[in-house]
Amino acid sequence: MHQSHPHPLAFDLLIRGGRVIDPAQAIDRRADVAVRDGKIAGIGDFSAGSAAEVIDATGAIVSPGWIDLHAHVFAGGLVSSIHPDRDAGIATGVTTVVDAGSSGASTWQSFRADVMETAVTRVLAFLNISVKRTDGPRHGDWAQFAQNQTIPLAEREAAAGYCLGIKVLASQTHCGNLGITPVKLARQAARLSGTGLMVHIGNAPPLIEDTLELLGEGDIVTHCWHGKYGGLLDRNKKPLPAVWAAAERGVKFDIGHGSASFAFDTARHALAAGLPLHAISTDLHVGCLRGPVYDMGTTMAKLLHVGLELPEVIRLSTTSPAHLIGREQTLGCLATGREADVTVFRVVDGAFTFTDSERRTETAAQNLEVLYTVRVGRVVKRSDGNG
Ligand SMILES: [Zn+2]
Repeated sequence: MHQSHPHPLAFDLLIRGGRVIDPAQAIDRRADVAVRDGKIAGIGDFSAGSAAEVIDATGAIVSPGWIDLHAHVFAGGLVSSIHPDRDAGIATGVTTVVDAGSSGASTWQSFRADVMETAVTRVLAFLNISVKRTDGPRHGDWAQFAQNQTIPLAEREAAAGYCLGIKVLASQTHCGNLGITPVKLARQAARLSGTGLMVHIGNAPPLIEDTLELLGEGDIVTHCWHGKYGGLLDRNKKPLPAVWAAAERGVKFDIGHGSASFAFDTARHALAAGLPLHAISTDLHVGCLRGPVYDMGTTMAKLLHVGLELPEVIRLSTTSPAHLIGREQTLGCLATGREADVTVFRVVDGAFTFTDSERRTETAAQNLEVLYTVRVGRVVKRSDGNG
């Protein structure tokens, strides 16, 4: 005699009735997203009875899990870092956080063990070109550099799936009297380890032209739309010739908002000039967590506010940053078979006060509210429903 088994459910999780926006697959329509065994099982029209758990996404947007290309989540390296899951990451709709150089070679092992291997949020990182933690200018002393440690570590940790490349702070604040040299050392370390390069731009020296000249295909400039003197725009708010040349060579541009590095004015002029943008990111740390940045959703809403369309804002927070870190085959897309990292959020209409890094305040008509974060098929954040 055969025992009768209950009919097995087709899916573990069904996200029903939302507007699915997945730029990598050119999808923007009302549909259900099905998840099984931690992976995307399909996008289509499925019955509520087919899944063990159902999320009602009616009136909401369903996108690939957001990628924050620039944040700081290792207090053992950069003391102003925040918690990868509670302050950023899954609590805020972000399923992948890229740490931008909070750790150099001397602290990397504890970063990997204590943060990358334990956080629920996927944490990947750029390795700081300076090996040690320091209170002064991070790159301000020759003793900060040890290419014989940094290069093999970057290569090994890239192969292990944790390190994306080298981070350098190309600004007087961090380079002290060393000028452009730290950028040259970072480029050397990136090229010799076969990994990526992320360059923070800020106060000169080094001059922006000297920094950009060293960069090529795939290298990332972060803080691209800061409002300081000596950025990408000239006195007449037009992009410098060196910026167009860099874009032509394939240099990529990332927001990296932070406490000092995003200006509404620069953003509008850059957009008006047609400058390319490749990623939206927060540069979250304790100095901007309680404003002006707050989180990824607020940062994305600021880009909506300066004129980008929602699907473009999502592209710049999912598939485009995935490309920048060489993970477009695994991250930032809801294709069947991918690891199921999904963000469910609402576009809320109202009057929202947004402040940029120049302390300019504007009133925006829309903000983003994260309802659910799904990480590897599991619902790891639910909104309390009170906004
Ligand atoms: Zn940063």
